[in-house]
Amino acid sequence: MDTVIIGSGIAGISFAEKYRLLAPDAKITLITRENDGYYSRPLLSRGFTKNDIEQSIILKTFDKLRENRINVISGAEVTAINRNDQTIAISGSCREESLHYNKLVISQGSAAFIPPPFKPYNRLFFCLNSLADLKALRKFRQGFLNDNRKPDWAIIGGGLIGCEVASDLAVAGDNVTLFHAMGRLMERQLAEEDSVSLLKVLEDSGIKVLLNQNVQGFTKQDEKVCVKTDVATGFDGLIVACGFKPRTGLAEKAGLEIGRGIKVNQCLQTTDDAIYALGDIAELPNGKLYAYILPIRSQAFWLAGFISGQEKNEWSPPVFSTKAKVHGFEAAHPYNL
Ligand SMILES: Cc1cc2nc3c(=O)[nH]c(=O)nc-3n(C[C@H](O)[C@H](O)[C@H](O)COP(=O)(O)OP(=O)(O)OC[C@H]3O[C@@H](n4cnc5c(N)ncnc54)[C@H](O)[C@@H]3O)c2cc1C
Repeated sequence: MDTVIIGSGIAGISFAEKYRLLAPDAKITLITRENDGYYSRPLLSRGFTKNDIEQSIILKTFDKLRENRINVISGAEVTAINRNDQTIAISGSCREESLHYNKLVISQGSAAFIPPPFKPYNRLFFCLNSLADLKALRKFRQGFLNDNRKPDWAIIGGGLIGCEVASDLAVAGDNVTLFHAMGRLMERQLAEEDSVSLLKVLEDSGIKVLLNQNVQGFTKQDEKVCVKTDVATGFDGLIVACGFKPRTGLAEKAGLEIGRGIKVNQCLQTTDDAIYALGDIAELPNGKLYAYILPIRSQAFWLAGFISGQEKNEWSPPVFSTKAKVHGFEAAHPYNL
């Protein structure tokens, strides 16, 4: 049986490794755009205080996975899913090919969400969603450090990732202004009292936090990028951190049912019973996306058991919590996830 996996994030890799264990004879192929190996995405937001991050973030090389008989095709993009003949189309740096599947696992994860008014300005800002993004940001920052300058950053978005990145840049020594649309930070995840203490922690680390900001876009003036709000101000670098968007394009083109993510049943099966989805991209029947490490690993292990015939019950989410990786911050109340 040909089992094909799209994506080398925690969802795809955890599934592949567990399935290898449970089904020693299965043929497993994993296709990924990545070249650097399997890395820890949560560690991206500690990417400025850890000097060796570009190496230490790698959890496993693709060669290590190949040694475990997982056929990793890296630096390649899946461009189409053809459900009629159960094949996918792959485009790589030096090849175009088509690959057959009996079971297809879509674990393409999510991209950074860019609010539509910001889209025309995409050359003026960075995001922090992948290792490639982090490398681009670090290179840009290093240019300032080489000239003995502290870069001035604007972070747009006071959710989990915006607060984490702002905190890490400030602790690394940079000047940071955080713009948030709402009246309190991380309002979706934190109790009001915790938003207040988070604000204090960020301000104590030197971050200027601007709440209730209606950011309309950006402009470039000389070497500075300006944030268009009521009062425009200039910055050296801009990071948009406004949430995430599941990469549903391929599945949608293949005619699978899409909501916020790819719609799956409680067995993580899409509307085509040869195709499964898990991780950031999967939308469960309760309308939830379980976009955190712990439930994703649980989905991956569960699915490996299900496809190998060893799991009979439906997947149910584990009890889990998370922690904002803001230097010096501990919430007093549980997160709302
Ligand atoms: C900065 C940051 C900090 C975070 N911190 C935490 C935290 O502290 N705790 C927590 O629980 N969660 C955290 N998260 C969320 C967590 O990292 C994600 O929920 C998780 O990584 C999602 O895993 P995934 O495998 O579903 O997707 P991804 O990690 O997005 O992996 C998907 C992979 O698929 C590849 N891909 C996509 N399309 C194609 C294609 N067409 N062809 C080939 N390859 C393709 C992508 O290149 C990518 O490698 C954080 C996320 C970010 C961005």
